[in-house]
Amino acid sequence: MVIVCSAKELEKVLSRAPRFPTPKVELEQYPTDSRTAAQLLWEAYMRGDIFEKVVADLGCGTGILSLGAALLGAKIVLCMEIDPVCVVSAVKWFKDTDVYYVIDPIVCDVRVSAVRSIDTVVMNPPFGVHRRGADLEFLRVAMAMKPRSIYSIHKLNPNSHRLITCLAEEYGYSASVIAIADMMIPQMFDRHRKRVHRFKVGIYLFRRKVNKGVKRE
Ligand code: SAH
Repeated sequence: MVIVCSAKELEKVLSRAPRFPTPKVELEQYPTDSRTAAQLLWEAYMRGDIFEKVVADLGCGTGILSLGAALLGAKIVLCMEIDPVCVVSAVKWFKDTDVYYVIDPIVCDVRVSAVRSIDTVVMNPPFGVHRRGADLEFLRVAMAMKPRSIYSIHKLNPNSHRLITCLAEEYGYSASVIAIADMMIPQMFDRHRKRVHRFKVGIYLFRRKVNKGVKRE
């Protein structure tokens, strides 16, 4: 069942996402703003990748992408997160909605998860600022799940674009930037100097190529 009927309406619901209760810099716990989250999910929905699909949200945080996918009619949403404190907040929020029953919260390290048979992955992974390569690690995990489509947010710069497209090729996926968004990160940690840090991100779509095997797992 689809509960929202426009990207704007979705954004409005998602603007109520809880904040990170105890933000952890080592896990790069930066929230996706509701506009970018709604944009990513709407793009996925319009391409037929959400409605009645099995969706995994890797590093779900307090659940903004998971709840959005559920509101757009996903069959099941696996809301996967390493920090149990975030998952508790997410579940409290989900319980206020009518789509609570489709979301399966899983506290796990996605790098060692055995989850398979996913149609679509949505994620805003760590950007790899604190731990270099964390973004690519998440992408590897997502591609090893062999979904048809992956929607993921990444910093927009030529070097990371090159690494991302090479990795996609290796796993038999095409990679394209389907939208550019302004990411706003509020001052959360002591080392943040500005009240709000703004930068450009790309919403990437990775599509599994037909008849192409996955090179590695
Ligand atoms: N998807 C959320 C949070 C993005 S921040 C949102 O869009 O708002 C990245 C998230 O990945 C954080 O919540 C962090 O705790 C989680 N994370 C980092 N490493 C992880 C790992 N190895 N396994 C699972 N989750 C992880």
